[in-house]
Parts: sequence; structure tokens; C-alpha cells
Amino acid sequence: MNKISVNTENIFPIIKKFLYSNQEVFLRELISNATDAILKLKTISRLNNLENINNNFKINILLDKKNKSIHIIDNGIGMNKKEIEKYINQIAFSGAEEFIQKYKNDSSSIIGHFGLGFYSSFMVSDKVIILTQSYQKDNPSMLWSCSGTTDFFMKEIEKKDIGTEIILFIRNENKEFLEYDYILKLLQKYCKFMPIPIFFSSKENNKNEKINNTFPAWKKNPNDLNEKDYLNFHKELYPNQLDNPLFWVHLNIDHPFRLNGILFFPKIEKRIDLQREKIHLYQNQVYITDDLQGIVPEFLSLLIGVIDSPDIPLNVSRSHLQSDISVKNISKYITRKVSDKLNFLFKDNREKFQNKWNDIKIIVEYGMISDQRFFERSINFFLFMTVDDDFFTLEEFKKKIKENQLNEEGKIVFLYSSDKEKQFSSIKESKNRNYNVLLLNSPLSVHLIQKLEQFYKEIIFVRVDSDHIDKLIVKKIELPDNINLSEDEKINIKNFFSNKSIGNHEFSVKLESLSKEDRPFIIVIPEYLRRINEMNSLGYDLKNPNENNKHQLIININHPLIKRILQIKSKEKREDIINNVLNLTLISNNLLRGKDLDFFISKNFKKLSFGIDLE
Ligand code: ADP
Repeated sequence: MNKISVNTENIFPIIKKFLYSNQEVFLRELISNATDAILKLKTISRLNNLENINNNFKINILLDKKNKSIHIIDNGIGMNKKEIEKYINQIAFSGAEEFIQKYKNDSSSIIGHFGLGFYSSFMVSDKVIILTQSYQKDNPSMLWSCSGTTDFFMKEIEKKDIGTEIILFIRNENKEFLEYDYILKLLQKYCKFMPIPIFFSSKENNKNEKINNTFPAWKKNPNDLNEKDYLNFHKELYPNQLDNPLFWVHLNIDHPFRLNGILFFPKIEKRIDLQREKIHLYQNQVYITDDLQGIVPEFLSLLIGVIDSPDIPLNVSRSHLQSDISVKNISKYITRKVSDKLNFLFKDNREKFQNKWNDIKIIVEYGMISDQRFFERSINFFLFMTVDDDFFTLEEFKKKIKENQLNEEGKIVFLYSSDKEKQFSSIKESKNRNYNVLLLNSPLSVHLIQKLEQFYKEIIFVRVDSDHIDKLIVKKIELPDNINLSEDEKINIKNFFSNKSIGNHEFSVKLESLSKEDRPFIIVIPEYLRRINEMNSLGYDLKNPNENNKHQLIININHPLIKRILQIKSKEKREDIINNVLNLTLISNNLLRGKDLDFFISKNFKKLSFGIDLE
């Protein structure tokens, strides 16, 4: 018996407990080693023109449930006695020890738990045997064995084929790793695209399955792939996904960092799907994780596909990751490639792009709000849709409306609706004035509006129902005060209507000089108040200066009814009329919104007997 040269006596107990939640990575680590050993031999035999090297490189995984063991067999470079001493007894151990020392307290934040290497096998085994023959055939074959203490055993054995066989004797607590289907799942997860053919068989059944596609689409030259190839790859990656992706971006860069990948824009489901597919991170075709927080910008986390980069550091914590310079560059690169692709699709075939727009706009909006660079790139192809389903870019829309929708401050007013049905009558009024109305109905619209107004000082957004039609776009010419209420009368009217409520709503009162043909009363939610409410419903905490007055009652002082109300002497009668007027206003508001009116009609209509034709 020999002693393994490590300082810490208790490395094995730590390894066994370490990363408890992610023990399964041992399989990835060992198959990665087998892959490396084969790639090394391939290179050596190419460089040195080695003959008598078997070219049928492959890795066999053999499950032996009866003997409670898993065998990982490669025909790679192998090890001689010296190499075992160096690579296994010293380097592998000290590597594992260093890793554990560093991440004892922080293990869960390490991406993919890479770096434990060979010794991760002790997370699930109570004994590990290595049988190996170096490619340099004059070296004897070796056996190495260790039972999870710092003692190991090594001896020469009868000559075997070139390569290495690792045998894990699975601990009783981990017997799930002796189930065929369980191992198959793990192999499909971690090894599906590894570069050396992997075969899985079991002593108990006669299956022998090939696990991997050694040359996945993301490794190929984009010029060699057609639409069908991308769709097939999407299926290969997400066999359970029924919908085809809308389009894809092929990532391919060597400098200043190495990265390949294919990202798909999926059809985004309306329902919240916790089982949602995600982007998979690979390193040299080895699956690492699908938790890409900090690597890919948040707004692109709705995409799916593969990113393969050896330059993403894995043995660092999440917080370190975000300040890593190559990770920052990778994130920038991906963002740029996505906006380039969208721009290309927009220019290449606008109609096709428009047809897909509703499916992709939420991602674009999210990106524009959260990433300034993406905002500046995307504004060229961002599409505004009108209530009549016409599409415009920002510049196109500005050009279209800049004559008719210019307000007295010289701003171009972007009228919009958030709900075509609810704001039907306001939209109609706007259309009567030849105004163009946008439909901005996404959950992110309110944020995007703020962002656009910040960036483009010459435009302003106003919701169609936020004011009287004459006041939506205040132009230079004002309507004359053709009834001329005195200042006292204005104060009186304001007082009469203050401190009342309509239905359950309290409101503030605003006098406006409108045409006498217009309605006498209008209920609106002013633009600024509605934005505050919408922002607050998204988790902000903005103060509404008029806490209770969410609604505003606009009184048209030019309407004959106002003069009549002022003439009523009896306070009681006046109150009665005012209450009726308010109820009627609410009814007509609701009528236009298609609400159930039975309640109001039965309660209020019969009282309407004050003899004034309202409209
Ligand atoms: P790493 O792979 O990160 O270097 P490991 O602990 O996994 O660390 O392995 C240590 C070393 O042991 C490897 O670098 C390699 O030289 C050697 N080794 C491990 N597995 C094999 C194998 N299947 N065939 C040949 N050499 C191997």
C-alpha cells in the first residue's frame, strides 16, 4: 500500500458529501477525461504518423448491476506507471483538493461544478479501479485501485488493449446510478453532442445504444446549413417541443473569444410555463448547465438553443462571473448578433417580419428597455402597429402624423390605445379627426413609452381616452368661450361638483371650454395618473399626488346644461340633478365600454326627469 500525497487527510469525506445535489456530474467528468484521452491519441498519431493505432475511436459505458459497477472504457492514450503516479496520485488529488478548499462554502454558486475531475467518482463510489495501457506499447499494463482513503494500490497486470477502463463500485446509498434508464438519461443530458462516439450497454439487457451526435449543427459552417438543418437541430435539441422556432441566429466567433452556438426565437407561449426550455451551455460539446444567469442578458433568456464556449470560466461564483471581461464581451456579442439578425430579417422581407412581429416584440421591447445599445439598434426595425393593423417604424410614423398631430408645443403626439374594445369610442373620435392611433398593449408598453419619450424629445405619447378629444392634441387655436361663464360662476360650478362620487369612484373636477355640441361631462383617467398606476402595478412605488382621485370629471362649461344648473335656486333640486347627471355620465361611459347596465338603469333612469335633452 502506498500513500497518496495530499495534505488534507479528510479529502474523501469532503468529496463524498460535496456537491451533494449534483453528484451526477461524475459521469460527465469521467467521460470528458476519456474523450480527452482519445483526442490526445488522435493528435499524437497524426503528428507522428503512428501505425498500428486502431482508428475506431470510441467510448463504451457498461453497466453491471449485479456487481454494482459502472465501467467507462476508452481506447485513448492510456497511462503508464509514472503517469498514474503523476496525474492521478498527485495532480488529480491536488487539483481536487484545491478546488474543494476554494469552494467549500460556495459550492452551489459554481456553474456546472466543473473541475473536480477524476476524483468526482468518489462522490458515488466506495471503490474505484483503473485498468490502463499506454499507447507506448512497451509499457506494461497497470491496475490502480483506491477505496476512498488516502491509501491506494498499484500493480502491473496482464497485457490489455491500449486505453483506459475506469470501474466504479457504486455505494449503496447511490444505487439509482445502477438503473439503466437513469444512466441513459444522464448520458443524454451531458453527452448528447460529445465529439467521440459513446455507446451504452448493460450486462443485464442486450441493448447497445449510441448516445451522441459527434458533429452537431452549431459546430458546422453556417454556409453549409439550410433551413431544414436548423429545424432538425431544433428537434434534436428539444424533442418535446412541438412548435418550430420563428428564426435562429448562428453564433460563430474565434476572436477575442471562442464561441459557437445557435439560438432560436421560440413561439412564446402566453401561459407561464415552468417547464420552459432554456438555452444550454456547452463547453467543447460537453453539456454544462442550462442556468445562464449572468452569461446571457436577461432579456435573451427567453431564447432557446446552444452556446458552446471554452472561454466562459466555470469555477467561479456567479458574482465573479458578471465582472469577468470575456463574459461581458460574450454577452455583448450575443446581443449584437441578435439585433443584427432582426435587422437583416426586417430589411430582407418586411412582410414576413411583420407576420412574426407579434411573437417577437416582447423580447425586443424587453431588450430595448434594459439595454441601451440594443435600444439604439432596434429602433430602426421596431414596429409600431396601429389599431387598424398597419405597421410603421418610428421614423415612418413620425413622418405620417407630423402635420396633423403636432401640438402647440411643437411635439408630435403619438396617440395610442391599450385596448381596442374598451377604448372604442375614444378611438372613433380620434379617427373622425383623421388621427392615427397606435395599439400599445404589451405589458412592457408603459416602460417603452417612457424610454422613447426620454430619448426622442420631439415626440410624446398620449392615450386616446386620457382627455377630451379637443385636448388630446392641444393645437394653437382655442375654441371660443361662447357662453362666457363669469369667474364666480366657474367657481360655483366647480364647487357643486366637488366632493361627489360617481358609482364608487371619487374624482377631481376640471373645467374645459369645449364646443357646445360636445358632451357636457366626460370621465377620464388622466395620462400621468394612469402611468403612475401602471408603473405601480409592475412593482414600482410612485406617489399619486391625488391619492383618491383616480378619475377626472371634465365639465364642458360651454354646454347649455351648465348654465341651467347655475340657474337652479333650490339646493335640493340642484343636488338631485347633479347626482343624476353624474350617474348618467357613468352610464354612458360604461355603455361605450359594453358593461352590464341593468343595475344603473333600474336604479337611476326613472329619476331622470329634469327635462333637459342631454345630447
Ligand atoms: P483534469 O482532467 O482536469 O486534468 P482529472 O482529475 O480529471 O483532471 O485527471 C487528471 C489527469 O489524469 C488527466 O489530466 C489525465 O492526464 C489523466 N487521466 C484521467 N483520465 C484518463 C483517461 N481516461 N485516460 C488517460 N489519462 C487520463
